[in-house]
Amino acid sequence: MPDAFIPYGRQDIDEADIAAVVSVLRSNFLTQGPAVPEFESAVADYCGVRHGVAVNSATSALHVSCAALGLGPGDILWTTPNTFVASANCAYYCGATADFVDIDPITLNLDPIALERKLETATRPPKIVVAVAYAGQSPDLRRLRTLADHWGFRLIEDASHAIGGRYRGKPVGGSGLADVTIFSFHPVKLITTGEGGMAVTDDHALAERMRLLRSHGITRDACQFQELDAGPWYYEMQTLGWNYRMTDIQAALGRSQLGRLDAMVARRQTLADRYDAALNDSGLTLPQRSPDCASAWHLYVIGWNPELSGLSRAEAFSALRSAGIGVNVHYIPVHLQPWYRAQGFSVGQFPIAEAHYRNAITLPMFPTLLEAEQDRVIDELLRLSQP
Ligand SMILES: *Cc1c(COP(=O)(O)O)cnc(C)c1O
Repeated sequence: MPDAFIPYGRQDIDEADIAAVVSVLRSNFLTQGPAVPEFESAVADYCGVRHGVAVNSATSALHVSCAALGLGPGDILWTTPNTFVASANCAYYCGATADFVDIDPITLNLDPIALERKLETATRPPKIVVAVAYAGQSPDLRRLRTLADHWGFRLIEDASHAIGGRYRGKPVGGSGLADVTIFSFHPVKLITTGEGGMAVTDDHALAERMRLLRSHGITRDACQFQELDAGPWYYEMQTLGWNYRMTDIQAALGRSQLGRLDAMVARRQTLADRYDAALNDSGLTLPQRSPDCASAWHLYVIGWNPELSGLSRAEAFSALRSAGIGVNVHYIPVHLQPWYRAQGFSVGQFPIAEAHYRNAITLPMFPTLLEAEQDRVIDELLRLSQP
């Protein structure tokens, strides 16, 4: 075992998860049956929010929430460069464009002070701000809400890293501060449906709009019909939507996983505490813990110290990979991706995100990571990081 490759993230599937999936496979509905609404209610209840809209990925959840909030050609969406590309791509799917706000060097989340400065001088204010809960800790939602109310933009929390975390004592998604919160159920995230995502909101009309958009813009609800109900076969396509539906197979897996979410996050917390204790005097930069948050610990990201170790980040990264440790980097700043450069973005525009990227290393972090495996990661890191 000790020589096996340790990935940076991994799903945790148990027999109950498998049984839940098998029972859907034996049932009448593989999709559009009862499991999706049951999973939506279970997530909404868990978060203390009124509505959950399940879709086939967090990317789709970002798209339908932007579309439902009315983002369109001529509009602009702002987000953090320290994220996965999907947080910004949703703007372009809607015919709008994206711009970025640099991060706070401590929390590594979108910096509300930088946001305020940018709002004060912007010729075109954003219609939507997507703030990411980087690594599992929510951004400063209270200040972001104040700015949203003052400047009239809508606030999406991309909590793809953060289901199971808490913000000021409330479950992520249930703070009442963001207009919509997004979760991802990709296998490396906190709970999984294979592929999948959800948008949660307290806004009934917004949830209805997202439900319409995830399924071709079609409604079968007679109360919503615009034309005369022609008969029991009748349905209406009222707007242009997509097929972003989650299957019942996925939803059953998600609901089963949700039952273990708290235990899995608690395990991540234990592993984070062990990393903190072992690496405290290593000269590496360790993740900062915001007093407003209980992190879901999707990622444990350290800052490499090239001066102390005499090794560049790239050298350390390669040495760790060669030792069978599946380190990763989160994130290459989105504005530096070739497609974004082609939209006019360039190096130096968001220096704090760029500086974070230069030395970031993501360590293995997942609930089934064994302490012996984690000790291997720690030993290797300490060996490399000391002069
Ligand atoms: C993973 C991720 C997404 C996309 O999630 P998918 O479910 O794979 O579409 C979006 N935003 C962030 C911050 C992510 O980490």
